[in-house]
Amino acid sequence: AEMLANFDPEVAGAIRQETERQEYNLEFIASENFVSEQVMEAQGSVMTNKYAEGYPRKRFYGGCEKVDMVEDLAIARAKEIFGADHANVQAHSGSQANMAVYFAVCKPGDTVLGMDLSHGGHLTHGSPVNFSGKLYNIVSYGVDKETGRIDYDEVERIALECKPTLIVAGASAYARTIDFEAFRRIADKVGAKVMVDMAHIAGLVAAGVHPSPVPHAEFVTTTTHKTLRGPRGGMVLCREEYAKIIDSNIFPGIQGGPLMHVIAAKAVAFKEALTPEFKAYTEQVVKNAKVLASALVKRGFNLVSGGTDNHLMLIDFSGSEITGKMASAALEKAGITANKNTVPFETRSPFVTSGIRLGTPATTTRGLKEAEMELVAAWIERAIANMDNDTVLEEIRGEVKELCKKFPLYAHRLK
Ligand code: PLP
Repeated sequence: AEMLANFDPEVAGAIRQETERQEYNLEFIASENFVSEQVMEAQGSVMTNKYAEGYPRKRFYGGCEKVDMVEDLAIARAKEIFGADHANVQAHSGSQANMAVYFAVCKPGDTVLGMDLSHGGHLTHGSPVNFSGKLYNIVSYGVDKETGRIDYDEVERIALECKPTLIVAGASAYARTIDFEAFRRIADKVGAKVMVDMAHIAGLVAAGVHPSPVPHAEFVTTTTHKTLRGPRGGMVLCREEYAKIIDSNIFPGIQGGPLMHVIAAKAVAFKEALTPEFKAYTEQVVKNAKVLASALVKRGFNLVSGGTDNHLMLIDFSGSEITGKMASAALEKAGITANKNTVPFETRSPFVTSGIRLGTPATTTRGLKEAEMELVAAWIERAIANMDNDTVLEEIRGEVKELCKKFPLYAHRLK
């Protein structure tokens, strides 16, 4: 840290301020988490220097014996965690993991059935501004207007009509357990393959807190940095028969050299995910989400689908004057970080939105439990009720900071 501060005080200063921000705010962005010191140590290692195009023992560069060791470990641990035949741990991001599967299965123009972005899907599930929406004929399913849940009969009806090559299940803003078996049954009726993008719930799946998609899908993609609590990155799991085509679509298909320092950090995070402590962590993530959701409902907030089964929830402000943009700005001032989010059947623009997405993975990592979730719900209510009152928001921010001090995160880095 001193070397950086001496050479480049601007970057060092920004890192220090970011460390403080993470330490003294409550992080409720559902896709974020805090990695362990050992994960950061691996990622900040000399492995960043190594070119290793290819795969273990089949590299295009010399000197790869040591990086082969970490990639082998990452692959073996990923397969063990999820019970998968094959794992590709080189995907630089969740988007690239998804791209590799699309390229392996679909020709441009093929029909892909995925979840609508405004109903909870991800950009890579067919948004017109994303490669997926530009290359493929996208048909979307959403959630039922009454229940806020996926209506599997409706998904089946759409699939029978559009006969997709690939069905994509998984979401970025869906609070309910996804029935992967139902997607499998539907796909089998229309001769489609299934890709489950479990990015958000991968940690829950790893610990058995959410049913696994692996037995029901040819391909399972994920990011490694959300509930799985590893470094930023992606991964593809698949059945043995698709191992070669997935690997070749990652490299040389869409990527060059793998990020070996990130793969080393993935290996460490996967080792963590195999521990009983990690299972207890994910159970607490879900407990915290349930307590936060019911505390918010008690305080009069509407949640999409009325609650949660997993690590996240969506507050729905539609029909009121409050927008997601206004609410997230107020929470930010109060020291609670969340993101504005579209809600199903959204009427406002994606820059304004009618919702707020909240997730418990990050605060659970720093040790918050049920009692603190009750406090958070009270702060959220007070902040939204006093959106235009900076004095109140500042007051909440102070209380939030006091709570954060009781649950130190990277405090030793601020000494
Ligand atoms: N898939 C889902 C369901 C996601 O929520 C995300 C993250 O935003 C991604 C894929 C994309 O991951 P990345 O941001 O690493 O490209």
